[in-house]
Amino acid sequence: AYYDPLTNLPNRINLIQHFREVVIQQRKAALIFLDLDNIKLVNDTFGHNFGDLLIIEVSKRLNSVKDYKFVVSRLSGDEFVILLLDSEEKSTINDYCTSLLRLLNKSYQINNTKLHITGSMGIARFPEDGLSFEALLKHSDLAMYKAKENGRNRFVFYEKKMNEEAVQKMTIKNYLVNALKNNEFVLHYQPQYSIEEENEITGFEALIRWNSPELGFVSPVEFISVAEENYMIIPIGIWVLKEACNFIKKYNAYMEKEHIISVNISILQLLQDDFVDMLGDVLEEVNLKPSLLEIEITETMLIKSFDTIVVKLEQIKEKGIHIALDDFGKGYSSLSYLRQLPITTLKIDKSFIDNIEIMDDVDNLTESIIYLAKKMGLNTVAEGVETEKQLEYLKRNQCHKIQGYLFSKPLKEEDVYKVSGK
Ligand code: C2E
Ligand code: CA
Ligand code: CA
Ligand code: CA
Repeated sequence: AYYDPLTNLPNRINLIQHFREVVIQQRKAALIFLDLDNIKLVNDTFGHNFGDLLIIEVSKRLNSVKDYKFVVSRLSGDEFVILLLDSEEKSTINDYCTSLLRLLNKSYQINNTKLHITGSMGIARFPEDGLSFEALLKHSDLAMYKAKENGRNRFVFYEKKMNEEAVQKMTIKNYLVNALKNNEFVLHYQPQYSIEEENEITGFEALIRWNSPELGFVSPVEFISVAEENYMIIPIGIWVLKEACNFIKKYNAYMEKEHIISVNISILQLLQDDFVDMLGDVLEEVNLKPSLLEIEITETMLIKSFDTIVVKLEQIKEKGIHIALDDFGKGYSSLSYLRQLPITTLKIDKSFIDNIEIMDDVDNLTESIIYLAKKMGLNTVAEGVETEKQLEYLKRNQCHKIQGYLFSKPLKEEDVYKVSGK
């Protein structure tokens, strides 16, 4: 009864018994949570039992590692837990996990189909990371999620802060549910300035602020990702867009010149079937010209479903709405794909602007980015400009616009009118 009928590996109860012995004998051990990546265990077109055959194959491999003492157990589906015994040193665990990954990655031949799979692992150690089986299982699971987040096909050691992060996320999620309904969000607006005429505001970036009665001020850096995880970003995103468009409409009515509002968009919004229609509806409702709206998207969005996104962006551009690529240079930046994107503006990431301050001009790539962007007919915006030295550099290299604390922090709506009354 203590064995998994499919693989004949020990099951959870069996593993707990092994763990008891570890505790009684006060031995060191590590619990390794392994989840296979991207495996759907349905019996699909490959034929009957396909998933089962693969799991059996994987189990055999996991059990075949030499030179280590361990117990492999199947938890459920494609989740395995390995109790690695007498492993005191992190380096030993490291070596073991490395060989596991390598073993997993070798191709599989199942029903005449060649397959490649990978796995993500989280490691919790006894006694440092927990004294009970349950605690270690939970902690290794948390670490496994980190391994998935970091790009899969890897292992991650549990750290205490992961537990705190998980609790923090849960708390945020609980209060976020009612935040929109309870009017707890406001938008702040950070002016963007033309570099030629320093005092001239060309527009604003709308930045969301959440003042939770229970949690106090929560940074968007923390809650946007949580809002994305459970799709709350969809209604929140629509609220942001309407609020921002209304703001700029009202603001422009006071001013002689027209100003543009930039709104940050999440990938999940962009992937909604009705996103383009929604943009059109909001503009119509507010009676705002499309050319006064700019959406900001990030590079990381483009990794997934590149072609679908390009088609959508083309539809948006066709409407006359501007599109900015945010945080350029932060991640996978490659100038080569820029050509394929129907964007109008490149926002150079703050890390590049920071470099201006600390590097010699010759070592800084910002200049080349501005130059190439211009060649492609794109506007450039420098983000996070904080010093005169940076400003001077950006002027010299003819960046179009600047945004940053040197000129202004993001402002409450009522304060926007103060800075504008020059
Ligand atoms: P982001 O789009 O890159 O926004 C720029 C961030 O840099 C803002 O942080 C802004 O307050 C900050 N910043 C501006 N100038 C300076 C400067 O000179 N120095 C420094 N150190 N920081 C500066 P914030 O407002 O905390 O927003 C963080 C991120 O949250 C944004 O990064 C954006 O990714 C996301 N976010 C904010 N509002 C929204 C929203 O309405 N929707 C979505 N989807 N994401 C949003
Ligand atoms: Ca899985
Ligand atoms: Ca932005
Ligand atoms: Ca940015």
